[in-house]
Amino acid sequence: MIQEIQLSADLSKLRQQLWRAYAALAHSLRRLQRSEPMVQGSFYLLRRKCGKPNCHCASGQLHASYVLTRSEGGKDRLYTVPKDQRAQVRQWAAEYRRYQRGRAVLVKRHLHLLSLVDRMAEQRLLTWPLNKEVLHA
Ligand SMILES: [Zn+2]
Repeated sequence: MIQEIQLSADLSKLRQQLWRAYAALAHSLRRLQRSEPMVQGSFYLLRRKCGKPNCHCASGQLHASYVLTRSEGGKDRLYTVPKDQRAQVRQWAAEYRRYQRGRAVLVKRHLHLLSLVDRMAEQRLLTWPLNKEVLHA
């Protein structure tokens, strides 16, 4: 009987956690239902040497260009972003990063919700038969 009371206390604590986790999951979904376009990859300013020995970059004045990099079929690709498209591509790439972060949070919250459901199920699980006898043929 004491064990049963303890059991229901744990269950009601788990239920509370479950609905909090559900609300957090719903919050994640609301954040992910944006309609802004996005583009895959990282946008940044790349500074590099071109390799020509007499170029100004050899003495430290590196060439700078805005690029978008991403992995395509296992290969790292790098695209130079034209000046007139910089603002737009920066925004699209930021939107993609935002999506990825939101998705990672969704995965974590989903797993948390699932583990709570499993723990609640464990609380209800009985051992039957109590006296397990292995049958021999
Ligand atoms: Zn150079």
